[in-house]
Amino acid sequence: MLRGLPPVHRFLSDPLLAPYEAAVGKSELKRGVIEALDGVRLAGGAGVPSYEHLRAQVVARVERDASRALARVVNATGIVLHTNLGRAPLASAALDAMRPLASGYTNLEFDLDAGERGSRYARATGLLRAVTSADDALVVNNCAAAVLLLLDTFAKEREVVVARNQLIEIGGGFRLPDVLARSGATLVEIGAVNKVYLHDFERALTPRTALVLRAHASNFRIAGFTHDVAPRDLAALGRRAGVPVVEDLGSGALIGLERFGLPHERTVQDALADGIDLVAFSGDKLLGGPQAGIIVGSAALISRMRANPLLRALRIDKIALALLSETLRLYDAGRYRDIPLYAMLGATLDELRSRADRYVRANAKLRAVDATAYVGGGALPQGEVASVALEIRSDAGAGAIASALRRWTTPIVARVERDRVLLDMRTIDPHEDEIVQSALHAIP
Ligand SMILES: *Cc1c(COP(=O)(O)O)cnc(C)c1O
Repeated sequence: MLRGLPPVHRFLSDPLLAPYEAAVGKSELKRGVIEALDGVRLAGGAGVPSYEHLRAQVVARVERDASRALARVVNATGIVLHTNLGRAPLASAALDAMRPLASGYTNLEFDLDAGERGSRYARATGLLRAVTSADDALVVNNCAAAVLLLLDTFAKEREVVVARNQLIEIGGGFRLPDVLARSGATLVEIGAVNKVYLHDFERALTPRTALVLRAHASNFRIAGFTHDVAPRDLAALGRRAGVPVVEDLGSGALIGLERFGLPHERTVQDALADGIDLVAFSGDKLLGGPQAGIIVGSAALISRMRANPLLRALRIDKIALALLSETLRLYDAGRYRDIPLYAMLGATLDELRSRADRYVRANAKLRAVDATAYVGGGALPQGEVASVALEIRSDAGAGAIASALRRWTTPIVARVERDRVLLDMRTIDPHEDEIVQSALHAIP
């Protein structure tokens, strides 16, 4: 039994702990106190630590727990679509439009003209048709759900033909052969890992074939001694054979990336123009919107997917749907530069350099260096963009600096490259420059 342990209320009425109570709430703070006191009791031993020592432990516990809460962070990695940092940041215009919708009731599933039940998908569908020129569209929770719905609707207990060079895993355990197996479809693998020909597909088609599935190689490249089938030829084969050809495009670019000096990334419109019957893609990769899975293409096929009871379980939530519609409206209005992803990719080197120079003039520890930023997000492995970064010169060591930045009030995630800490200007929002500047001043 330990006597002399300070009572809980002493901590709770300590003015030095008041800011923590204000930040995390009384019950969080109390939990920190009880945990710290329990720690002393469990350790047994003779002496009771001083009150000040215990208070420091309480602070450490509260800060540790607070750092696990979801928080805004500054992305200084130079990776524009960083899955660990939440993929695409959303456009202000979309967020502004969403707020009044989310804080009140909406005509989500209500037709105001007719005064009766309406479709929750109608607005997003209309915009998707306008932006992509597809016949019809359907929106679900994410692209993985879109692929699942597609396979469940068309391929259960039937065959799906996939080329061996496209049997992808996209991470997070989403591996195409496994997804096919789970959906009750039989995978028919054709061709070789490096070479696939149209006649490989032709020979694989049987009366049991439900679909030909193309998966976009969004996170790897096969190079060297290779041969592949042009999607256009594959779509034509499907039409001749009466078998739908569908594509898991993933990245979902709606505009050409060449305008940002990037290699051409297959767009949704490219896939439709090739004659692909259904195209599935994500809302939060190169579209720059919220998490969502989108399927566009043949109206007849989409109406079958709409009738699948599984759709209800894969349904997109109303806030994501509103954000998606508002993001699509920006494309429809030609305002893609208002989408943060494209504002970042579109920033010129001169703009980045002049921002970096402002940092350097104010802080002798900094140097502006040429750098490479990446599109990332499993979206575009070869998507490199020239950039400008701040290099921190300090004796503190790269690991220690990066860790101190991660612990800043607004955590800053930097890149550590060959023992150098780099802060890439391309992914730091200019509105965040002040935060970053004060953090960099605090570094020894
Ligand atoms: C990213 C990706 C997916 C999964 O998309 P989510 O929206 O994260 O579910 C599926 N297929 C491909 C080809 C992808 O690149």
